[in-house]
Amino acid sequence: MIPYGQQHITKEDIEAVIKILQSEFITQGPVVGEFESLVSGYCLVKYGVATNSATSALHLACLALGVGAGDYVWTSANTFVASANCARYCGAKVGLVDIDKDTGNMSILDLERRLIDAEKAGSLPKVLIPVHFAGEPCDMQAISSLSKKYGFSIIEDASHAIGGEYRSKKIGSCEFSDITVFSFHPVKIITTGEGGMAVTNNKKLYERMNLLRSHGITRDPSRMKGSYEGDWYYQQVDLGYNYRMTDIQAALGISQMQRIDEMVRIRHQLAYKYDEAFNNFPIEILRRNPLNYSALHLYIIRFTGKDSASIRLRSFNRLRERGVGVNVHYIPVNNHPDFVKLGFIKGGFMSAQAYYDSAITLPLHPKLIAEEQDKVIFEITKLFNG
Ligand SMILES: *Cc1c(COP(=O)(O)O)cnc(C)c1O
Repeated sequence: MIPYGQQHITKEDIEAVIKILQSEFITQGPVVGEFESLVSGYCLVKYGVATNSATSALHLACLALGVGAGDYVWTSANTFVASANCARYCGAKVGLVDIDKDTGNMSILDLERRLIDAEKAGSLPKVLIPVHFAGEPCDMQAISSLSKKYGFSIIEDASHAIGGEYRSKKIGSCEFSDITVFSFHPVKIITTGEGGMAVTNNKKLYERMNLLRSHGITRDPSRMKGSYEGDWYYQQVDLGYNYRMTDIQAALGISQMQRIDEMVRIRHQLAYKYDEAFNNFPIEILRRNPLNYSALHLYIIRFTGKDSASIRLRSFNRLRERGVGVNVHYIPVNNHPDFVKLGFIKGGFMSAQAYYDSAITLPLHPKLIAEEQDKVIFEITKLFNG
């Protein structure tokens, strides 16, 4: 089966990991700090907090922004559940925004409509989490101006988007947000096995995420209450978690970062070949704004017309049978039973549902070789020619 996404591991990556296994520290030692500096330097942002997943980075980001019981956190209906669950971990309520069907990203029109209603109802969100779906940046300028009007903070869920650019600036620069979160899960742009990072320009948010990442424990006397009792001493000053990344993971991340631009460039070349091949087919491709640079985490095609859901199902099964490891991103968050339990309605977000019913994710990753891509294109062609 040709997978839809897969890690790209080189000899250098393996050597970097082995070197750490033979060194003094294997978890959150000096290499985690180096990885944080490398990623934040790449994004031209001040601070980075590496974590054991993007899910934990999203949780820390919400906590640092003061999300708690009674607050609302909004995200896109078309995302992985983790973008919404971070709010629930903090006791907050989740709100969802419908999508723009051309990009799969949060619809600015729907967002604005919901903000107007929420203002009247006294239920404005404390935090908004736009998701750069498939690597394509959201309209951050529009989101940022709405945040000023309605007074919410912004966490970019850039789990798909490291290596991409919004208006010539790297995703993660936080020009239009408080915090940006990356995922280093193996199917994402670069990997650390499991892992994530929250980046920010705000020192207070950085310090808070840093503290909560490791049990809420500090060794800094200036942050302690009472007297300092000796060099063994530390204090828990808040309730935190163990969300630390290991040095083993960070070493892999540093090694992967050396190739990030090349890996995203390969994704663009592959996507361009798909674009050309499907030019005259009755399918739609997600729009990529030429003013931005997508990280192209996913390449998605949509079946058009009335029967798209049944055509999608048949095509999906057929492609899988033929060894093409297609996938579907995403089942709308509101469709999951655990969200229906909260009062969400299955199918309740019209554009996200229409999009979901018609979409298939094709294989796209830096290890995809020409023969494999040709096979994918051949099998798609066959769907339409008998
Ligand atoms: C993968 C993903 C996450 C979670 O990432 P982990 O590192 O697996 O915790 C969150 N949001 C989105 C949009 C993702 O794709």
